[in-house]
Amino acid sequence: MTASADKFTAQTLLDVQPLTPNLFSLRVTRDPGFRFRAGQFARLGVTKADGSVVWRAYSMVSAPHDEFLDFFSIVVPDGEFTSELSRLKVGDSLLIERQAYGYLTLDRFVGGRDLWLLATGTGVAPFVSLLQDFEAWERFDSIKLVYSVREAKELAYVDLIGGLEQRDYLAEFAGKLQFIPVVTRQAHPGALNARITTLIETGELERAAGLAFSTEHSRIMLCGNPEMIDDTRKALKARDLQLSLSRRPGQVAVETYW
Ligand code: NAP
Repeated sequence: MTASADKFTAQTLLDVQPLTPNLFSLRVTRDPGFRFRAGQFARLGVTKADGSVVWRAYSMVSAPHDEFLDFFSIVVPDGEFTSELSRLKVGDSLLIERQAYGYLTLDRFVGGRDLWLLATGTGVAPFVSLLQDFEAWERFDSIKLVYSVREAKELAYVDLIGGLEQRDYLAEFAGKLQFIPVVTRQAHPGALNARITTLIETGELERAAGLAFSTEHSRIMLCGNPEMIDDTRKALKARDLQLSLSRRPGQVAVETYW
């Protein structure tokens, strides 16, 4: 990926928080002119020792109203971008394209009553941004955040998610959000223990949520592992839940994450 100089700004790394040995979050300054809708992603560039720049797309975790930008990353073994990124220290500079991208945004949907956010791994990032914003809470009667990881220690942003309904600007919506963690490779108290696809096919997800899928009421966003996206789309299609397109509004919006 390349970008000409007028397409990006230089920003400063403010903080890096390791979450597990291979997951971390980073906080970066935000250009006042950088605008995005919750659910979108930015292109980040890191300058290598030889002066060339490596670019990679990352969804914003922070809300559109925050003064900084937060991102959530996995260390990809032998990945060029994350190995360059891991060399950066607080105070160092990284590049961010002026333009935000992506269609995993609420304006993909017409109507709807129940918002389902289905994520695997770092694919939870855009949903954390969406939930820190006002619109989803105002527009939907109930929100189900389903977040699937291999092991419980990989569940990130759990405290942030648990604290959302205590925020002043969301307090009036308290009770709308249900967080449904899914841990697939170990038993973990309070978490479901099968893949999202299986949970849909067996009806276990709807039972845990106390809510059935319906074409009229459900609006479903998927983000994460590309195979999960494909398989989940099939499972939802079998329930008559279709991809939402501008010429044919539906129930499902997707973003593959790597
Ligand atoms: P992952 O394999 O995506 O697993 C995360 C969760 O998704 C697990 O609960 C997993 O269940 C579930 N899952 C996987 N495939 C599924 C499917 N077809 N249908 C339903 N659920 C599915 O694991 P990860 O730890 O987040 O990432 C795995 C690898 O992908 C890592 O090695 C990482 O390097 C790479 N990755 C790369 C990037 C990138 O930007 N290049 C980004 C993220 C991850 P199971 O436990 O049953 O598999």
